[in-house]
Amino acid sequence: MSKESGSSPELKGLRKVIDETDAEIVRLIARRLETVGLIVKEKAGRPHQIRDPERERQVLGRVESLAQSLGVSGPLARKIFSELITHSLAREAAALSGADPAVREVTIAYHGTPYTFNHLAAQKYVSGLGLSGHFAGSGSIHEAIEQLAAGTADLALLPIENTAAGSINEVYDILRERDFHIVGEETFKVDHCLAAAGAVPVGALTGVLSHPLALEQCSTFLDALPRARRIPSVDSAEALKTVAASKDPTQAAIGSAEAAETFGLTILRRGIGNHEEILMRYVALARAPETFDARIACKTSLILSTRHEQGALLRCLQILSEHGLSLTKLESRPRPNRPWEYMFFIDFEGNVADPKVNAALDELRAQSLFLKTLGCYPAKATPVDAAAPVLVTDPVLAAAPAKAIPAPAARKSKHYKLADRATRSEDTIVRVGNLLIGGAGFTVMAGPCSVESAEQINQTAASVRASGAHILRGGVFKPRTSPYAFQGLGYEGLDLLAAAGKAAGMPVITEVMSPDQVRPVAHKADILQIGARNMQNFPLLNEVGKVDRPVLLKRGLSSTIEEWLAAAEYILAQGNGQVILCERGIRTFESATRNTLDLSAVVVLRERTHLPVVVDPSHGTGNRAYVTPMAWAARACGAHGLLIEVHPEPEKALSDGEQSLTPTEFAGLMDGLSRWRA
Ligand code: PEP
Ligand code: MN
Repeated sequence: MSKESGSSPELKGLRKVIDETDAEIVRLIARRLETVGLIVKEKAGRPHQIRDPERERQVLGRVESLAQSLGVSGPLARKIFSELITHSLAREAAALSGADPAVREVTIAYHGTPYTFNHLAAQKYVSGLGLSGHFAGSGSIHEAIEQLAAGTADLALLPIENTAAGSINEVYDILRERDFHIVGEETFKVDHCLAAAGAVPVGALTGVLSHPLALEQCSTFLDALPRARRIPSVDSAEALKTVAASKDPTQAAIGSAEAAETFGLTILRRGIGNHEEILMRYVALARAPETFDARIACKTSLILSTRHEQGALLRCLQILSEHGLSLTKLESRPRPNRPWEYMFFIDFEGNVADPKVNAALDELRAQSLFLKTLGCYPAKATPVDAAAPVLVTDPVLAAAPAKAIPAPAARKSKHYKLADRATRSEDTIVRVGNLLIGGAGFTVMAGPCSVESAEQINQTAASVRASGAHILRGGVFKPRTSPYAFQGLGYEGLDLLAAAGKAAGMPVITEVMSPDQVRPVAHKADILQIGARNMQNFPLLNEVGKVDRPVLLKRGLSSTIEEWLAAAEYILAQGNGQVILCERGIRTFESATRNTLDLSAVVVLRERTHLPVVVDPSHGTGNRAYVTPMAWAARACGAHGLLIEVHPEPEKALSDGEQSLTPTEFAGLMDGLSRWRA
């Protein structure tokens, strides 16, 4: 008996409503795509670029607010619409590409079997072109290429790099040796799922099957299951199929969620990869090159061998830069039979239909011993969230950026040089996820002093995000004056913070107190905070200087600006240039406030250093009534952002409740900021 036939009439009625709603959603998507088609026609013959990032941001912002006002998750709406926009852009590009409209179907070769990630990526690529596909799986990359060569496939979609393991050399070798052309690219997010024949506890598993690469990419998760043997199989789909066929509840397989569901397996865990996100990049190869309308943002790929002259590669890169073409990839590979000689694979943003790209290619030919153009193809519109990072969000603030402080005459401190404005006159802009901190931007970080529970951090994240905060803060290792005070939830709290940030679509910042915490915390947090009490903890400064993570360095309780910049210099000198300074008040004779918020430090720092400067009025004043006006004052004097403590119930907070804003007070602070004009 099926589940359906045993259900009550009420349940059946409700399921019918769901089915009708789903059908309506699909019809609305079709209507949206039709409208996109009309826009393409409208734009025909005009020299517009088809991409308009500002408009995309507005659309996403609008659907996110609408979703929130209806009680729907804003990040969910953003994610769905960023996928829709990506798809629409690919359709627009396809419509302008001049492809033969009579061709509605292509045969596309790929390496693998149905429902492997390669197959799913091929499906995504073909649907983006608005075509239907016949998918020809093969046993190896070389077999896929032979299908293309023999004409049994029109295209071959091959993986060329992934964000975890880097480039796939075999494909680079094919591009060098064979005469195929890149006519497109695709990106695909690999979400490794663990699936079994039933809802078994993961601790009971004795074997996990998958492709060796997938097993390796999930090694941290698998290390925590010492009883489970890793069993390699030809590909992930095969692994899932084997587990489904055996029905053995002690076995599981790693593969795509789509494949697991197709084989009737239960997904035990999603996202078990070592890396937060693994993105695969694919290239679509064809036997003949294609040309694309100049309005389509394209990438051009080439192989180049430089002359045996000093600075030869640099000269080639300069040619691209001089023509305003930005490099998106540079890869070196050994030249066959020429020990210790290299050839370079270069991707840059540019369409060969643009005369400036042709001029650059001519100059490059003159500079190189060998140059082969591999293709010019529409740059795959990545989801808007992952596209060019944004500087601030608030239009009023963006329209009234803080005035740039002129560089001082060469001033040399003997304590620091890399941090000195005299060494670098442009503002340093630190990238955090999709955000930029520094320059003309204004970034707000908000959240509780300490992470206390999943509920507390999730609730705070949702509310500060709804008020317009950009980054979620939360301490998990707490530097407390008293050893008897709450010390933080440690790594458990870090997991809660990371999950809350992910759910709200915000990067997270948290404090590290000792060198041994730096690497594990850097794995999960987007910014590492060094607290006031540790500003001169030199081993800690050295350690954060060795990881590729932005660092927010708070001013010491009794430190001069000179000492603070010298502390920043420790981090810079180790090679990490992503330092953000944070004024959080200093010790003075004044006792009406917890500390004295030294806003004059902001103007001094803007002159002496190129590093971004943010202000923490919560610790700076210690009193929630003073936080909002001082936050506005910080903005007025040229700070690049704020760090604000917010707690859903400040009176119950385990630390710093008296200085934490309620979500409503924080909303008022943000509202005031967005109205503020220079
Ligand atoms: C904090 O940000 O919670 C903190 C402990 O700050 P500070 O190091 O400025 O005291
Ligand atoms: Mn605090």
